[in-house]
Parts: sequence; structure tokens; C-alpha cells
Amino acid sequence: MKTLILGGGVGGIVAANALKNTMGSSMKVTLVDREPNHYFTPSFPRLMIGETKPSKITKQLNILEKRKIEVLHREIENIDLIEHLVTTNREQLEYDYLIISLGVEYHPETVPGFSEFVFNAYDFYDVVKLSQRLKNFTSGQIVFFISSLPYKCPPAPYEMMFLLDQFFRQRGLRHKIKLTIVTPDYSPEPIAPPKVGQSVRKMLDDKDIELITEAKVIKVERNILMLDHDTKVPSDLLLGIASHWTPEVIRNTDLVDKSGYIEVDQLTLETRYPGVYAIGDATAIRLPVLGAYAPKAGSFAHAQAVVVAKNIRLLSRGLKPKFRYDGKGLCIMNTGFGRARYSTVHYYKKPQPYVTLLHPSKLSYYAKLAFEKYWFKRWF
Ligand SMILES: Cc1cc2nc3c(=O)[nH]c(=O)nc-3n(C[C@H](O)[C@H](O)[C@H](O)COP(=O)(O)OP(=O)(O)OC[C@H]3O[C@@H](n4cnc5c(N)ncnc54)[C@H](O)[C@@H]3O)c2cc1C
Repeated sequence: MKTLILGGGVGGIVAANALKNTMGSSMKVTLVDREPNHYFTPSFPRLMIGETKPSKITKQLNILEKRKIEVLHREIENIDLIEHLVTTNREQLEYDYLIISLGVEYHPETVPGFSEFVFNAYDFYDVVKLSQRLKNFTSGQIVFFISSLPYKCPPAPYEMMFLLDQFFRQRGLRHKIKLTIVTPDYSPEPIAPPKVGQSVRKMLDDKDIELITEAKVIKVERNILMLDHDTKVPSDLLLGIASHWTPEVIRNTDLVDKSGYIEVDQLTLETRYPGVYAIGDATAIRLPVLGAYAPKAGSFAHAQAVVVAKNIRLLSRGLKPKFRYDGKGLCIMNTGFGRARYSTVHYYKKPQPYVTLLHPSKLSYYAKLAFEKYWFKRWF
């Protein structure tokens, strides 16, 4: 039996390992990704301020071969769900089970001027360039903006601002730097109870970071961010999160709903095609209470991958799949100066999603550092 996993990011890596660990040679597992490397995104904020190096947060995907996972470095061009065939730039691949974990792709062109004037804070190569630029930045306004919703890891932009605050304070330059964050959301952490968003606002305030909410970015000029209603935000350095879309190869299938993301069963992650699953950022998961879509983060992709792998194991043995995804995850937001806030999320909880956000602590900070080590040791 063969399981084909599309995407070697968080969801794909966990699914491949989980399948191999439980099924051994009874399941051939093939992982396909266009990138030769995996980048550990939770450490991008620390990479930005030079607290870690690119080589420390990068692993070659083909290391997974030692775990008997076949790794193909390919561009996926077409998914034929009727014939069970995936076409890459080199060959056609058949499957018995298919797991799609292709994440999102960035579309900076939806904001004119983005590609010319903005560092994409979610792109590994741009973060490396940004870390060099910051070394020579001594005064002026830095603006971080979110192009559109949804975007993955909603706390990440705030984390990056807190680390910029730390970076410039440590250099004695903070009084010469204005930090501004611009978001289309009405609040940080919008699905959480209001007190969670309020506590992030307070931290921004305490650190003298300006927050502009409910802002629609129209375009970028060299030193200006243009918002709706002709509002102009001046800037000497622009960081942004480009609009997220599902990859074209997904949008060319009938898997997507009108949001552009893949419709899945909330509990099993199965698509409308039996034996075809989608996990991670590419999925459209409705929150039972708010009707809104669930947030996107690696911890959710991770938990979904484990559920799917366990159910494929049962199915391949002729048994009923019994494992269910529970909508739980966690996040640790680095708040600077060796502290972090630990957050738990349970987005299927009724009568409303449950989100906790602990106060900044050293323990949470060390837990975040330890997770990076765990991640590479556990899965590579
Ligand atoms: C700066 C930053 C910080 C973050 N911090 C956290 C955090 O602290 N905690 C947390 O839980 N989450 C965090 N996240 C979010 C997390 O990285 C994502 O939610 C997670 O990676 C989603 O996993 P995925 O498998 O769905 O997609 P991805 O990990 O994005 O993997 C998708 C893979 O598909 C490949 N691919 C796409 N299209 C094709 C194609 N046509 N052909 C071949 N390959 C293709 C891509 O190359 C990619 O490797 C952060 C994200 C960023 C950017």
C-alpha cells in the first residue's frame, strides 16, 4: 500500500513519520516537496534579530530517507482525484491514500509596491536579508503590516514587534525608532475572549508600539503605506505579511470551497474524496460556534497529521477509522528579553473557543527554545 504526502512542511513531516512509525514496511510513504529544505518557522523572529543562524533552523528533507520515507524533490503540477494520480515535473505518482499538506503560497502582488519595497516577514530568505538590514538601521519608523486575512500563526507579527523592541533597546537606539503594526483584524487574537486581545494591546502600549487595527492596505510607495480612506503611514523600513492563497495546484481541483481553502471533515480531515485527506494551513475548518474559519498554525497541522496517520493505519487493515481531531493546539509567543507567553487553544469548544494566554515567563521562553530542539530530534 502507498501513501503519498504532498508537502514537506509541518503537516507532511509529522504525517510521514507517524505513518512509518506505526506501519513500518507495510506502508510505502512518499513525501513530495519543491523545496530541498525544511525551515523551522517558529524561530524566524529570532533569526530576524540575529539570535539564531539560518543553518540552525534548516534541515534537508532527504534526511527523512534514513527513516525509510521516500523523499522526492519535485514541483507538484496536478492532482487527479479520480484516477488517483499526482503529476510532478518529472513523473506521475499513484497512491492508495493521499495527504495534502501544501500550506499556503504568498501573493505580494495583491498589494502594489509590496515586491519592490517590503520585506516579507514570513519568507525565510527575506528574513535573512532583513536581519542584515536591521544591523544598519539606527533611526526612523518601522512599519509591519498584514496584507489580508487569514494569515498563519496570528501571534507571530506581535512576537516580531516585541523582538524588534528588544533588539533596539539592547542597542540603546529605541528612543530613535518608532514601531507600528497595522492589521486588518479588529484586535490581536480576535477569536479569543476580549481580555486576551486586551492584554496583548497592553503589552504593545507598555513597549510603546503603535497598533492600527481594521486597516485595509491599498498600496505601498517607497516610504509610505497607503491605507483605506486615504490614510498614510510613513515608514523608513517596511515588513509585511503577503496575502495567503492555497497553492495553484490545489485551486485547480474541486477540493476548495468559496474561501479558496480545502473543505474537510472537521474531525477526520477527510475531503469529499474517500482516502484523500487535507491538513494544515491549506484547510478550511469552520469553528462550530463563531462560524468563522479556524486559525492556522503548525501545532494544529501537527495534531491533524497524527490523527490522519492513525486512521489510515486502521483503514489499511480493513478497520473503521476511530481517531478524531479535537481542535486543540498551543502557541508560545516570545515577548522579548528572555520571556514568552504560553497560550493554549481549543477552537471546537462550546459555547465559544477556549484560548488562554499566560503572563510572560522565563519558563515559557525556555519551552519555546526546547521545542526547536525537540522538533528536529523527533522528526529528523
Ligand atoms: C514567522 C512564522 C512563525 C510561526 N510560528 C509558529 C509557532 O510558533 N507555532 C505554530 O504552531 N505555528 C507557527 N507558524 C505557522 C506554521 O509555520 C504553519 O502553520 C505550518 O507550517 C503549516 O504547516 P503545513 O504543513 O500546512 O504547511 P507548510 O509547513 O507551509 O508546508 C507546505 C509545503 O508544501 C510545499 N509546496 C507547496 N506547493 C507545492 C507544489 N506545488 N509543489 C511542491 N511543493 C509544494 C512547500 O514548499 C512547503 O514545504 C509560524 C509561521 C511563520 C511564517
